[in-house]
Amino acid sequence: MIKYAELLKQAAADFEKAEVEDAALNARELLGRALGINCRGRDFEIMLNQQVSAQVQAEFDGLCRRRMDGEPLQYLVGEWEFYGLTFKVGEGVLIPRQDTETIIDTVIKKAPKDRRLTVADLCTGSGCIAMALEKHLDCEQIIGIELSDKAFGYLQQNIKLNSSTMKALKGDVTKKETAAQLPMCDIITANPPYLTGEDMAKLQKEVSFEPQCALYGGDDGLDIYRHIVINFKDRIKQGGFFAFEIGMGMEDEVSTLLVRHGFENVRASKDACGIFRCVTGYKK
Ligand code: GLN
Repeated sequence: MIKYAELLKQAAADFEKAEVEDAALNARELLGRALGINCRGRDFEIMLNQQVSAQVQAEFDGLCRRRMDGEPLQYLVGEWEFYGLTFKVGEGVLIPRQDTETIIDTVIKKAPKDRRLTVADLCTGSGCIAMALEKHLDCEQIIGIELSDKAFGYLQQNIKLNSSTMKALKGDVTKKETAAQLPMCDIITANPPYLTGEDMAKLQKEVSFEPQCALYGGDDGLDIYRHIVINFKDRIKQGGFFAFEIGMGMEDEVSTLLVRHGFENVRASKDACGIFRCVTGYKK
């Protein structure tokens, strides 16, 4: 009989050999999942000295195999952390990414501090942007809009999990009627699908497991931004702003789109890797 510590070491070595990035982290997270214990806690460390049970080993082997086949770690674990909050994720919803912290940091910095805010997050998915903002801003109202049934299911679970007061609306942001459901907002955020046709043809294996409707933004990646700006610009109060996450190299096109629709003080901010990741523009 072997102990969990050895099982963990073996799995990390297997991941390393299979060139899975962050091999040790993958092994820990999946063993935590198989054991039903958070791998970042003390209970997990204590467990490592225990003898392996056949049932847990079978569960762990199954998870490792799926990971080797390219399934995202986050889907296998079933939840992921973003901006200090936990979000349920699985097939059908975009996984919260570290890149997306840029839009949160930017909005927190730019948000007016002298009044309670009405905020809407479009293409909200898991709800990670909306709930991170809710936690850090003084929101009178926060609303998320999502089209996909599967993603909407995760959104509802995440609202409960985080005791959020955000309102979840089902709707298609490419339709004018959807915008009519929103009150006048101080801030409208979105991380819309923005990958181009070319990007979609060379997706990383893990990303190909994520919903295409959360990734593909039309040939040039800009389709959904165009719809959002046209449909939602009249839902922003005077002096309020749009904040968009953008794909690499899209800062000029998205900025131009905002300027063309009368937005001013349009700025791009960089993520931790120095890539422009967020564009903001103010309503006159
Ligand atoms: N950031 C994601 C990726 O690069 C894309 C998400 C999106 O299109 N909004 O895979």
